Amino acid sequence: PDEISVGELASRMKKTGAEVVKCLMKNGVMASLSQMIDFDTASFVAEELGCKVEKEVVVTIEEKLIDTTEDRPEDLVPRAPVVVVMGHVDHGKTSLLDTIRNTSVASGEAGGITQHIGAYQAQINGKPITFLDTPGHEAFTSMRARGAMVTDIAILMVAADDGIMPQTVESINHAKAANIPIIVAVNKIDKENANPDRVMQQLTEYGLVPEEWGGETIVCKISAKKHIGIENLLENLALLAEVQELKANPNRAGQGTVIEARLDKGRGPVATLLVQNGTLKQGDIIIAGTSVGRVRTMLDYRGNRLTEAGPSVPVEIAGLSEAPVAGAPFFAVADERMARELVEQRKAEERAKAAAPVQKVSLENLFDQI
Ligand code: GDP
Ligand code: MG
Repeated sequence: PDEISVGELASRMKKTGAEVVKCLMKNGVMASLSQMIDFDTASFVAEELGCKVEKEVVVTIEEKLIDTTEDRPEDLVPRAPVVVVMGHVDHGKTSLLDTIRNTSVASGEAGGITQHIGAYQAQINGKPITFLDTPGHEAFTSMRARGAMVTDIAILMVAADDGIMPQTVESINHAKAANIPIIVAVNKIDKENANPDRVMQQLTEYGLVPEEWGGETIVCKISAKKHIGIENLLENLALLAEVQELKANPNRAGQGTVIEARLDKGRGPVATLLVQNGTLKQGDIIIAGTSVGRVRTMLDYRGNRLTEAGPSVPVEIAGLSEAPVAGAPFFAVADERMARELVEQRKAEERAKAAAPVQKVSLENLFDQI
């Protein structure tokens, strides 16, 4: 990259190797023709010999294909927050997601939600909020393992009769590591043995001091089952989202993250995508990991057909060559041939990685191990 052999440098300057070697030697560097010298040394020698050295810019297919330019502030517009529900098993994550979906999504829509795509949008005071509906914990963990940043706010569910449990702590750590604000929902307050004060006490031990105790953590007491305190929770969520001033640029190629994917018997590979920037359009060529294809159909969480999806909108698409892995980033691109080339390149890299031995054993470390 930033190195060149003495011989190569000589030939590019149309000088003899001897001239370059001699010049290096004069300046105290002993080098043979095959020896690599760094950029600064090459520049120095070149100048001595009346030439100029420039760094070579190597553009990969990926760089040619994928638009990673930063948005200008004036191109950004507000977008919906993306919320994940986390917490210990049986503390009520699924119940809360179902309750929100049934009260805030289906209202006014005959039939409500007919399908499950791993994410949905609810309207809170006329503004959309995107909820990830995947088995929260695993999805979030696998996405974080891939470095995907999809969520803006975490709702931490803690059952009031059970308190903080191992997966609660894990969830807190995940959210903190990802720098995502936490709203606590103390659930199951309808239960006789509910003890929300004990939960609040426990929370303080993890640096989550409730607002009502002078801290900064919003704690909402709810019952997902009996529909108590849900509206208050959602209003606090909307408020926290507003403070974050989340923005994106809808006027560029769509890009985001794969939320989940599967192989459908009739429709082939089907993937739920969260658009995070730009606008994804029907007919777009997209690339996601080692999967590539045209967006043949695009459905929203109600199963309605869409032709376009902007930032923070979850969609289910068909048309990819294979089911991509959850957490993989996706990009809409302009050049299909190049996209297929990039996928082939990625597949070759994967094969090479799979074929490589996990651990190289040399004589030394072989004896170390024994
Ligand atoms: P998850 O594992 O976190 O998704 O928890 P679920 O939503 O599946 O709930 C686990 C169990 O707790 C189920 O039997 C729910 O009916 C029950 N449950 C959830 N929320 C409440 C609640 O607010 N009050 C009561 N009494 N039970 C609840
Ligand atoms: Mg569940």
